[in-house]
Amino acid sequence: MSAQGKVLLVTGGSRGIGAAICRLAARAGYRVAFSYVSNDAAAKTLVAELKVSGGAAIAIKGDVGNEADVLAMFAEVDRAYGRLDAFVNNAGVVDMKARVDEMSVARLERMMRINVVGSILCAREAVKRMSTLHGGKGGAIVNISSAAATLGSPGEYVDYAASKGAIDTFTIGLAKEVATEGVRVNAVRPGIIDTEIHASGGQPDRISAIRGLVPMKREGKAEEVAHAVIWLLSAEASYTTGSILNVSGGR
Ligand code: NAP
Repeated sequence: MSAQGKVLLVTGGSRGIGAAICRLAARAGYRVAFSYVSNDAAAKTLVAELKVSGGAAIAIKGDVGNEADVLAMFAEVDRAYGRLDAFVNNAGVVDMKARVDEMSVARLERMMRINVVGSILCAREAVKRMSTLHGGKGGAIVNISSAAATLGSPGEYVDYAASKGAIDTFTIGLAKEVATEGVRVNAVRPGIIDTEIHASGGQPDRISAIRGLVPMKREGKAEEVAHAVIWLLSAEASYTTGSILNVSGGR
């Protein structure tokens, strides 16, 4: 089934998993909007790429952990496209490898503000536009969790794992809350995926260091996560809500 003419917003869509979701979505016929926080060049390059393949695409700069930026991002989508059919809560951060007994309150607040509060604020705005309770026509939301939510990430970033555990619980609760309002809410738990997030947490060699722990003995590609997301957003997943899909090579 085609998504022709439908509108998708992806947070943190300029690089990594988010960019792969934008590329597949454009191919499926979605008009795409994505957000990013700092890397203007990557955002500009992706918009140009998506437009070359015939699609509509806009990039919106802003921090998902800042309510004013979140409101401005959704207002920009309203202005540009006038509708919202699908939303992906993808923006997320890690931090430097640390034990819990070394973590500062500033670190914990940043992690929870971006990964948890940001995701809930964005979903709030998506529901206001999609839910039949608010006059919307329905829609689908996918939250990007992590295998860390089930593994706990000891000695690395338990705070990040806990933030993704919160995303799992949020997915289950919101899915039930809006189940009769035309909105489906699901999550995907990627395992170790080849993106720049590992370097951003000070571990550029993380993939080669832990590849052997994955039952499939390899890392995943961003596109392999994106395929799962696009399916969950699609009409083919019409009876799937409150689900959390592992895309982690068996880990
Ligand atoms: P990435 O390569 O580091 O890309 C992060 C994207 O999010 C970029 O577009 C970045 O924008 C944007 N971003 C970062 N902080 C933001 C903020 N505060 N507000 C708005 N946008 C922000 O990350 P990734 O590996 O693709 O990860 C995407 C999601 O998958 C995250 O939720 C992550 O936790 C999850 N995940 C990743 C893996 C993995 O192995 N890669 C595994 C499990 C889960 P700029 O380009 O402007 O910096």
